[in-house]
Amino acid sequence: AEEKPLNFLEQLIKKDLETGVHTAIRTRFPPEPNGYLHIGHAKSICLNFGLAQTFGGECNLRFDDTNPAKEDVEYVESIMADVRWLGFDWSGEVRYASSYFDTLYEWAQYLVKEGKAYVCDLNAEEARAYRGTLTEPGKNSPYRERSVEESLDLLERMKQGEFDEGTKVLRAKIDMAHGNINMRDPILYRIRKQAHHQTGDKWCIYPTYDFAHGQEDAIEGITHSICTLEFADHRPLYEWFIENLPVPAKPRQFEFGRLNLSYTVMSKRKLKQLVDENHVSGWDDPRMPTIAGYRRRGYTPASLRKFCDMIGVTKSDGVVDVAMLEHAIRDDLDKNAPRAMCVLRPLKVVLTNYPADKTESLTAPGHPNRDDLPVRTLPFGREIYIDQEDFREEANKKYKRLVLGKRVRLRNAYVIEAEEAIKDEQGGVIEIRARLLEETLGEDPADGVKPKGVIQWVAAHDCATFTVNLYDRLFNEAAPDAGGEFLQCLNPDSLVVLENCVGEKGLAEAAVGAGYQFEREGYFCRDTSGEKLIFNRTIGLRDSGFK
Ligand code: ATP
Ligand code: MG
Ligand code: MG
Repeated sequence: AEEKPLNFLEQLIKKDLETGVHTAIRTRFPPEPNGYLHIGHAKSICLNFGLAQTFGGECNLRFDDTNPAKEDVEYVESIMADVRWLGFDWSGEVRYASSYFDTLYEWAQYLVKEGKAYVCDLNAEEARAYRGTLTEPGKNSPYRERSVEESLDLLERMKQGEFDEGTKVLRAKIDMAHGNINMRDPILYRIRKQAHHQTGDKWCIYPTYDFAHGQEDAIEGITHSICTLEFADHRPLYEWFIENLPVPAKPRQFEFGRLNLSYTVMSKRKLKQLVDENHVSGWDDPRMPTIAGYRRRGYTPASLRKFCDMIGVTKSDGVVDVAMLEHAIRDDLDKNAPRAMCVLRPLKVVLTNYPADKTESLTAPGHPNRDDLPVRTLPFGREIYIDQEDFREEANKKYKRLVLGKRVRLRNAYVIEAEEAIKDEQGGVIEIRARLLEETLGEDPADGVKPKGVIQWVAAHDCATFTVNLYDRLFNEAAPDAGGEFLQCLNPDSLVVLENCVGEKGLAEAAVGAGYQFEREGYFCRDTSGEKLIFNRTIGLRDSGFK
């Protein structure tokens, strides 16, 4: 196997272990349970759990649940299921930031006592004006010199629920002229009179991300706290808290480039909007870039892990071509998915020289080069279905399918020759009469007139009938997020539903989620919903340009 060079985080951890900075490493994946996980999260999961695996360490799953307003247990549960489905397991019990709220509150009091935090009564608008800008230093809050006793008392009363939302916050006392705006007396606690999915009504003040995250890392003994680049400007504050609090360990923060995909929106807010406004059927709609969506679309965990491996880990943000992700799943299914025949738009063919009371049983390999996949049984009889697209009354030489008066091979079966097209009153072809050429199983016709091409077919007397969802990209713009309204870029043809498709009989027993290559059509998987037989198109057969 080819050796991949170590990415910058692997290099760094290797060195930390070699030089004894750490004897063992611990990472964490810290989602906020305010939506389903998307493919960007998959990158973070593969990175954090992957580093732990590579270096014999541990990785925690921690819900960063400090903002109850948008959070829900539905999300908690989906996130755990998605991490497991991707093939990872966390160290010990799942963790919740909310289970550290008592400790965080004590540490807030500690900072007040040290003269390093104060309760501030500025409202949001005033606080903005005092904060300054990138080029202008901020101004000290008039509440900054409050006594320790007064701030301690007000903080406790904030906790008791005495004050309205937005009327008071707890702030760190750092430097209102600091070049980094995050260091200008950042907020540690705000009042939110909101029940929490884990702590119920116990709290009405909640810590900010900045005040919570590093301390959570310290409590859990995280050695390498890896986050996306937009937090680089928060690192000085992360370090300030670790330096100024009696924390049990000193975690360090490192940043990497977040994943963006072409033809895709990635923020949970926008994904939630797609769900809430019914542009898709739910978070697990097969067109969604969520892990649940990809699962239902027929992506395998291995293909998502492979993709995350292919794109690598860098110190800059970038947009990855969605064709790379499509390549990863196509490659996986090409190697592993059993083959099957399916007819999306059935057209009946009656084989006039085949006895009405006769049937036979043909076979076909499960996969062209996978002996471990079971051989398929293909019933054959006088009436079969082919695809409407595979018949023409007349056609030029490029059309290598069935043409009136010409021959075609039925995949894994006989050669037939079309004799007559039966039409309805509007002139539409509703049935074909054809002749079967004897002794053409795996042989050319004895008269030397070879068939033009090979098409799939299904026996009418013994087949599976189902619905097929033909999915395409949800957006028809490469950068739906750029500029205007992303909803304007929705692809109106992202889902085409075909009813009454037919397929070889084995498909009736397809396991939920099982993937197939429907020969000449693409890769499909059995949908997870209900008892009805439904197949979702995962991806077409051919690469759309990715090299
Ligand atoms: P969003 O902006 O989509 O809501 P988020 O960063 O707010 O995402 P979190 O639940 O806080 O979502 O993310 C959990 C972890 O996943 C974080 O460590 C975050 O850095 C990482 N993550 C989120 N989105 C991406 C992405 N697009 N690429 C890589 N990592 C990501
Ligand atoms: Mg976040
Ligand atoms: Mg977010």
